[in-house]
Amino acid sequence: MSDHYVKVKVQLEQMKSFGEDAEKEGVDAEEQVPVSPIPAPVSPDPSSITIAGKDASNTSITCKHRGKSRIKPGKDDKNSRDKHFSDMPLVSAPVGKNLNRPGPERTLHIKGTGRILQGKSETNGNYLTIHPSKNIKETHHEDGFSLARKRRPVTVDTSKAKTSLEALKLSIKQLKWKEFPLGRRTACDIYWHGVSFHDNENIVSGQVNKFPGMIEMLRKINLSRAVRTMQELFPEEYDFYPRSWILPEEYQQFSTQIRMVKENDATVNPTFIVKPDGGSQGDGIYLIRDPSDLKLMVGSQAKQAVVQEYIQKPLLIDKLKFDIRLYVLIKSLEPLEIYIAKEGLTRFCTEPYQEPSQKNLSHVFMHLTNYSLNVHSGNFVHSDSQSTGSKRTLSSVLYRLTAKGVDIKKVWSDIIALVIKTVIAVVPELKVYYQADIPPGKPGPTCFQILGFDILLMKNLKPVLLEVNSNPSMRIEHEQEVAPGVFEYVPSPVDEEVKVGVIRDTLLLMDPGHKKHSVSQLRSGAFEHGEEMPMEGETQEQSPDGGGALPSLCLKQVYPKYTKQFNYLRLVERIAALFIRFLGVKGNMRLGPTAFRTFIRTCKLSNSNFTMASVDILYIDITRRWSGAVPDSREAGMGLQAFLEAFFYLAGRRFKSLALREQVMSLLELCEAQLEFQSPSIEDRRSVSCSRALPRAIRTQTLGLSNPLLSSPAPLRRATSQDHRLHQKLNPRTLRANVEN
Ligand code: ADP
Repeated sequence: MSDHYVKVKVQLEQMKSFGEDAEKEGVDAEEQVPVSPIPAPVSPDPSSITIAGKDASNTSITCKHRGKSRIKPGKDDKNSRDKHFSDMPLVSAPVGKNLNRPGPERTLHIKGTGRILQGKSETNGNYLTIHPSKNIKETHHEDGFSLARKRRPVTVDTSKAKTSLEALKLSIKQLKWKEFPLGRRTACDIYWHGVSFHDNENIVSGQVNKFPGMIEMLRKINLSRAVRTMQELFPEEYDFYPRSWILPEEYQQFSTQIRMVKENDATVNPTFIVKPDGGSQGDGIYLIRDPSDLKLMVGSQAKQAVVQEYIQKPLLIDKLKFDIRLYVLIKSLEPLEIYIAKEGLTRFCTEPYQEPSQKNLSHVFMHLTNYSLNVHSGNFVHSDSQSTGSKRTLSSVLYRLTAKGVDIKKVWSDIIALVIKTVIAVVPELKVYYQADIPPGKPGPTCFQILGFDILLMKNLKPVLLEVNSNPSMRIEHEQEVAPGVFEYVPSPVDEEVKVGVIRDTLLLMDPGHKKHSVSQLRSGAFEHGEEMPMEGETQEQSPDGGGALPSLCLKQVYPKYTKQFNYLRLVERIAALFIRFLGVKGNMRLGPTAFRTFIRTCKLSNSNFTMASVDILYIDITRRWSGAVPDSREAGMGLQAFLEAFFYLAGRRFKSLALREQVMSLLELCEAQLEFQSPSIEDRRSVSCSRALPRAIRTQTLGLSNPLLSSPAPLRRATSQDHRLHQKLNPRTLRANVEN
C-alpha cells in the first residue's frame, strides 16, 4: 500500500472515532476537507478537530468540525429485498444559493508531517484540495516527512464538449485539472465528447465519456425492445415501463388490443402518447385516444415511433405535472458499475394538469414536461432558487413531499431499482457495440457515460420510466428574452448547482490515478453520506458564512453495491456473451449463417428432430424478418435481438413443459456447460474485456413493484409471426445529436 493510502486510511479511521465524523458528511477526508472560513492553519476553536497522524504526538490536521450530523437510517435496509435501499438523496431545505463557485485558495498543514494540502474553500465551507493521486509527487524531506507536490494534473480534452463545455470547465477548474480546449497532440487522460463516442475517431488510450452504441440503444424503439425482452422474462420486475407498441410493425396488434379493451368495457377510454423514434425535447409527440388517430406516414414513408400507454394520474405539485431528470453514471460495463446522482432536476408543466379528455389532448403545456416546450409558455418561471419556478432541484421536491408525509425513502428505493433494472436491460447490446468498436487487442480508450433518466412519479408514488437520454443536456445557462425578440444565454443557478456537481464527481471517479482509491472507499462505505438524510425539522449543515447546504459527493454507487438483489436479472447478458463468442471476425455485430451453425453444433442443440436443415431455415426466417425493412443497416446477418428470438424459440422447443424464464435459463445452462468443454482457442478469440463470461445469475427476489395499470404487456410472444422486430439503423456517424434538456 502506498504511503499516501496509508495516511488516508489512518486519517479516515481517526475521523471515524469522532462521534460526528467527516464520513457522515459524505466528504472524503483527503479530498474535501471542511475548513474554517478564517484562513488559520491552527485554530483554537474548540469545535475544530485535531487528527493525529501516524505518530499521534506530532501529526495533526486542523479543520473545522462540521457540527451536526444527519440521521443515519437503520442498517437493516441493506441486503433485504422487501426493504428499501438506503442510499438517500440529500433532501435539503431550499437554500437558493449556488454552491459550486470555488472560494479563495487555502493551504492546510498536516502538522508534523510537513504535508501541505492545497485547495480552495468553497462558499459553503467545503475545501477542495488538489487531490493526491499518482499525479502528486511525494518528496522526502530531511525530517523524514513527505511533502505533497503537484506533479502532473489530470488532462482533459474538452475540444468536443459542445454544450457541456461551461459546466465541464467549472468542474475542471474546481479540481485544478488541466483543460485542453483545442485538443492535444499527445494523449489526454480524459476526452469529453458532446454527442457520441465517434466525435473523435483517433483516440487510442485514456477514457472517453461516451460508449459506442449508446445513442442507438437508447432510441425509443430500441429501449422499448430491450425492456420488453426483460418484461417477457421478468414481468413483475419490469412493470415500471408503460406498455408500448412499436410502429409501424405493431400497428395491427395495437389497434386490435385497444378495440378489444373498449369492447370489453365501454367505460374504459385509455389515452396513448405517440413518440417518434429518435425524437427528443417533445418533438413530434402527440396524444391519441383511438388508433385511427395515429399519423402513420411521413410522405410515402412509414413513421418509426413508439406508441405508449399514457400515465393519466401523475403526482402533482402545485397542481402541475412534473418529471424527474436523474443523472446516472455508467462507470464501466465489465464489471458493471452504476452510480446515481443524489441531486437531479425536476421539470414542471406550465398549465394546471387535468386528466386527458378529447378537449385537452393537444395542450402540451399541461401534458408534456419538456423544458424546451414549456419555456415558450407565458407561464414559465426561470428559477433563481432551487425550490421554485419551472425547473427545480430534485431534493427540493423530495423535501416538499417529505413535508407532506410521503415516504420518500421508499420512492428513492424504487427509483434505484428502476435505474439498475433499466441499465441491466441495455447492457447486453451495449457489449455487442463495445466489442465491435473496440475489439480485444485493438488499442482504444475505455468508456464511461452520464445518462439522463426521465422518470414520472404516479399519484400513488410509483416511479415510471419515460425514457433515457444518452446526451442529457449539461447546459448551465438558459435562453432568456432580454428585450422583445432578443434572446441571450444567462446563467441558470439551478442547472449549475446540479450539473457541475455531476460532472465534477464523474471526473473524480474517473481520475486515472485515483480510481482504485475512490472505488474502494465507496465500496467500503466511506462515502455513505447518502445514507444520512436530514429530515424535516433537522438543521441542514450550513457553511460558516451562513451560506447553503454542503455539496457532498453527489454520485452514489448502486451497482455492484446491490448485486445480490439484481444479479439474477442479468440473464440476457449471458446470452449476449454466447452471441459475442460466436461472432467470429472482430468488429462484427451480426452472426453469419456459418457462425450460427457453429453455435448450434458446439452447444449440441441439433438432433434428429431438429436437423441442421431446420437450423438453416430458422436462421433465414428470423434474419429475414429482422433485417428485411432496414436495407441500409450496417451489415447483414443475425443481430443480438434476432439471436435472442432464435434462442427463445430453441429454449421453447427443448423445454416445452417449463415457463419461459425457466426454458431460457435451462438452455443457457446447457450451452454454458457445453462451452466449458470447448477448446480455449474459442475463448481466446472472443475474450472481450467487456464481455467475459458472467457468473451464474443469483436467484433472489427484488422489490415487488406491482401496479395493475402497468402490469406486464406480456408482449405478444416472439413466436407470433407478426412479431417483426427490426433493427434500427446502426450508423453512429450519421445519427443526429440527441441532446435533451
Ligand atoms: P422526448 O424525448 O421527446 O422528450 P419523452 O419520452 O421524454 O420524449 O416524452 C416527453 C414528455 O411527455 C415527458 O417529459 C412527459 O412529460 C410526457 N410523457 C412521456 N411519456 C409519457 C407517458 N407514458 N405518460 C405520461 N406522460 C408521458
